[in-house]
Amino acid sequence: MLDQAVQGSITFDGRLGQLDRRGRALRDLRISVTDRCNFRCPYCMPGDVFGRDYQFLPRDEILSYEEIHRLAEVFVGLGVQKLRITGGEPTVRRGLPSLIAMLAPLRTPENEPVDLALTTNGSALRHLARPLADAGLRRVTVSLDSLDDQVFRRMNGVDFPVAKVLDGIDAAVEAGLGPVKINVVLKRAENDGGIVQLARWAREAGHILRFIEYMDVGTTNGWRLDDVVPAAEVVETIAREWPLEPLDAGYRGEVAERWRYVDGRGEIGVIASVTQPFCGDCTRARLSAEGKLYTCLFSAIGHDLRAPLRGGVTDDQLAGLVAGIWAGRDDRYSERRAAATERLPKIEMFALGG
Ligand code: SAM
Ligand code: SF4
Ligand code: SF4
Repeated sequence: MLDQAVQGSITFDGRLGQLDRRGRALRDLRISVTDRCNFRCPYCMPGDVFGRDYQFLPRDEILSYEEIHRLAEVFVGLGVQKLRITGGEPTVRRGLPSLIAMLAPLRTPENEPVDLALTTNGSALRHLARPLADAGLRRVTVSLDSLDDQVFRRMNGVDFPVAKVLDGIDAAVEAGLGPVKINVVLKRAENDGGIVQLARWAREAGHILRFIEYMDVGTTNGWRLDDVVPAAEVVETIAREWPLEPLDAGYRGEVAERWRYVDGRGEIGVIASVTQPFCGDCTRARLSAEGKLYTCLFSAIGHDLRAPLRGGVTDDQLAGLVAGIWAGRDDRYSERRAAATERLPKIEMFALGG
């Protein structure tokens, strides 16, 4: 099946749905609800580039919640099992719980509930966790790069105190959104000294830690390979304190390599997108706030779904359009990164939601 798909024929598998040219099914959709953010993390939206004068998308160019819901339904019909709401910072968009309430009841063609999650910087969770949970959210991922207040303030670019994010995480647990997943992007000589402290905190609090290798997304963060802390080093550092053993991947397309503490106190995950690319299993599509579909985090060009959506096409026509885009997908940027001799044009991470 895979070889045939790689040769370029369009493959439809009754169980898996539409396969791309490398035999990968469409399983996950990340939906960016805004390109705006209240943080300026230098690895994502450096403050000197995204200053006061930066033109974010005007309101009428952003998909409405009704439009997002309609597209989400189409994607779920095509085999998507997991929806992740992201941004920019999704909580800066007004009325987010009402979008959650629209998406939470979606069911797959096998009549399974859709796995609905949210990725946030945690700054608004103290007041939003409860309304989000009441609207039907079950899981939340919070990005938190350090427990050290000074380091955290520097890494969010707006001097935001870590205590407020920690309080937001507590609010999420109180609202029943735990165990909370914590995303940590590691940057050499910035926050790599805090790995063990984060691990200890997460073990004690029952949070699930995910360390993400700093990636060369976008064109503004000045990425250098030397700034990447390899996932293997993270595992070694933590295993020196508390022995770890590998866990099997939960499902095909799982990007985190998971490790369990031998003493039974939870697990960690590492996302080695730079040192051990996983394009072969990448089942993820991304929808930008303005309604463009990207089939890879490193794509330069998105496929516009907003124009047909607003132009009055039927759901079947939308499904055909998306299936056709997926069928033509051949992306594997991370696998080719090492061989790349030139930097290709790419879209920024905050526009795609990570
Ligand atoms: N604002 C939300 C947040 O920070 O969680 C959601 C959007 S953010 C773009 C999604 C994820 O992408 C975050 O966990 C963030 O740390 C990660 N991210 C951003 N830039 C990155 C980069 N250059 N390399 C690796 N991860 C990055
Ligand atoms: Fe904002 Fe998230 Fe990007 Fe940080 S990583 S600038 S919080 S969108
Ligand atoms: Fe998927 Fe593109 Fe990342 Fe490869 S580089 S894992 S295809 S998003």
